[in-house]
Amino acid sequence: MRLSRYFLPVLKEDPKEAQIVSHRLMLRAGMIKQQTAGIYSWLPMGFKVLRRIEQIVHEEQARAGHIPMLMPTLQPADLWRESGRYDDYGEEMLRVTDRHKRDLLYGPTNEEMITDIFRAHVGSYKDLPLTLYHIQWKFRDEIRPRFGVMRGREFLMKDGYNFNLTKEAALHAYNRHLVSYLRSYERMGLQAIPMRADGGPIGGDYTHEFLVLAETGESEVFYDSQITDLTFGDRAIDYDDVAQCQAVLEEFTSRYARTDETHDAALFAQIPEDRRRSARGIEVGQIFYFGTKYSEPMGATVVGPDGARVPVHMGSHGIGVSRLLGAIIEASHDDKGIIWPEGVTPFHVGIVNLKQGDVSTDSACEAIYAELRARGLDPLYDDRDERAGAKFAGMDLIGLPWRITVGPRGLASNKVELTSRRSGESEEMSPQEAVARVQAIYAPVLGQAAPA
Ligand code: ATP
Ligand code: MG
Repeated sequence: MRLSRYFLPVLKEDPKEAQIVSHRLMLRAGMIKQQTAGIYSWLPMGFKVLRRIEQIVHEEQARAGHIPMLMPTLQPADLWRESGRYDDYGEEMLRVTDRHKRDLLYGPTNEEMITDIFRAHVGSYKDLPLTLYHIQWKFRDEIRPRFGVMRGREFLMKDGYNFNLTKEAALHAYNRHLVSYLRSYERMGLQAIPMRADGGPIGGDYTHEFLVLAETGESEVFYDSQITDLTFGDRAIDYDDVAQCQAVLEEFTSRYARTDETHDAALFAQIPEDRRRSARGIEVGQIFYFGTKYSEPMGATVVGPDGARVPVHMGSHGIGVSRLLGAIIEASHDDKGIIWPEGVTPFHVGIVNLKQGDVSTDSACEAIYAELRARGLDPLYDDRDERAGAKFAGMDLIGLPWRITVGPRGLASNKVELTSRRSGESEEMSPQEAVARVQAIYAPVLGQAAPA
């Protein structure tokens, strides 16, 4: 993309309404625009990152064998009357009446609807296990929408649901989700720690939340510092292997890590004092096993191997897709702006032309731009007629992890500069080498793409 033809409405001043750094930077970098409290438009660069995150989620769900679909945002109230949650959900639920006076609601989650789909189409244990998911907008009329996309009213969530004949099978699905979530967050450049949590209105007592440690997080968390040494990395996993998935769950939950809702001061006190941590965290996902809580009242049953009908064991799992943009920025920024991890960056590399209009500088930039694109990379070329200082400040603000700077002085000896946004370090090299280096940096990121 050429910046002169893009739509990147950066703000010069810090917006007053932003209380935390991610909200401030998303507004300043022209990623989002608030339309009313807790409801945002996603401007092109924000939308691009949102899609990168969605793509990682889709790929990791495909790898785990989970099946994508799409359910609507509006749901009939009657489904929620069946489960008893129409009244329970209270004022967070946005209720709508259509022209025929039928009650609808803007879905805050989809357990009821997926259970309805299941009971209409699945009748035998032979069709199990089954895991379906979608990435869809949700609405929760939060009493205090704040911190930008972190606590919106309309927000994008990946929510998945699994159906199993037995509790053991459902717990395997639970473990499989834990593994796929660990992989997803790591690909986004995040450490998200699974912590024992509370079921809330979804229900169930078998549940973990994934938390990104950050001062601005809304959750209070307590953990053994050893847990932050764990990474999943690129180890191979067979998602059908029950023991393997169980071992990962045990590894990642064997150290104390809990949110304040389940915190146990006596257990915590047993950790050696120098490893005890209390901190703030951002919840970026949650997984549940809730047994037959929905399948029983809603009649989601299958004929089992012995011919008798039994309610299915279910679980659900959510990732806060839009909240993740805020969480990633909270975890990765400096005074100058955002620092995108390579896995989610809106553009792979920025090209800064120090002397727009100079024939040889322009043609060197064009050649680098074309070469990067030919290699499957997605560069942003700042081809505007602007001062170098303004171009650098803009690139630092929007946070592309790599920058190639091209100017007449360097070109005289066939050199451009490759700069890391994270370390600030620059290295001189030929244009060809800069392209090859950027390609090598992104090879592992692009190589992780799984077939959909
Ligand atoms: P919270 O405790 O933060 O209100 P929740 O536990 O009610 O969230 P879940 O039902 O577990 O949320 O939803 C799955 C994920 O959706 C959460 O882990 C979170 O990342 C995201 N999410 C929930 N509410 C919001 C919101 N208002 N704005 C943005 N993302 C949200
Ligand atoms: Mg939750």
